Amino acid sequence: MSSVYRYFRNIGMGFWTILIGMKITMKHLFTPAVTIQYPDARMPIPERGRNRLYVNMDDCIGCNQCAMACPVDCISIETAKSLPTEDLGMTSTGQKKRLWVTKFDIDFAKCCYCGLCVPPCPTECIYMTDVYEFSEYDRSNLNYSFITLSPDEVVTKVEQAKAAEREAAARKAAAAAAAAAQKAAQTAQNPPSAPVQTATKPAPATQAAPVTQPVSSPETTEKKEVEKTGSSEGKPQVDKQDEGKPGNV
Ligand code: SF4
Ligand code: SF4
Repeated sequence: MSSVYRYFRNIGMGFWTILIGMKITMKHLFTPAVTIQYPDARMPIPERGRNRLYVNMDDCIGCNQCAMACPVDCISIETAKSLPTEDLGMTSTGQKKRLWVTKFDIDFAKCCYCGLCVPPCPTECIYMTDVYEFSEYDRSNLNYSFITLSPDEVVTKVEQAKAAEREAAARKAAAAAAAAAQKAAQTAQNPPSAPVQTATKPAPATQAAPVTQPVSSPETTEKKEVEKTGSSEGKPQVDKQDEGKPGNV
């Protein structure tokens, strides 16, 4: 094979190889693209996908059930009792709100998105959203607070709840002291009279169970005496052979 032939043959093989590669490229030029141009385009989230939680505080009654269900303890809730004069309203599901929720934090750095906190909620106010992009450079920024009260309001509500508790305890103690004083006064006015000695009837002695003596019939007694003395006194001996004979009674 001449060198000129090999030269042109190699050039032809190179072009053929390029055509093979371009054939695949040309084929994909007219195929619909599957690449999502994130973040300009996003894939749809599954309907029951578990992403970032949200709490609708208007419906939260501070029952703590979501926190108790959480396996990693990343939900922190604190509440303060409302005053009897305060009306906190109702939830959208019809429950009366009686507690101020002064703290409702979820630490999403700990959350494992298991969704166990969602079903126990009686007012369905904690639920998963479709938000999954909330990365942070600082972990502390992943601790979300959901309360709607301002810091000053939180302090006020906590203080007023503590004051109400103190007042209730003081009222209870005063009522107990008044009751004790009234009882003491009554005792002073009407001292208890000396106990009247009443003749107490002696308790009947426990009757001993009668000793059961074997009742011995005259025949038995006589038999015993016979056994002792060997003969029966005062009674004619009747020979067994003479029994039934006339004259022998
Ligand atoms: S999703 Fe799971 S880990 Fe996250 S807060 Fe709810 S119960 Fe806790
Ligand atoms: S279970 Fe629901 S109502 Fe109860 S504290 Fe949690 S979010 Fe609030």
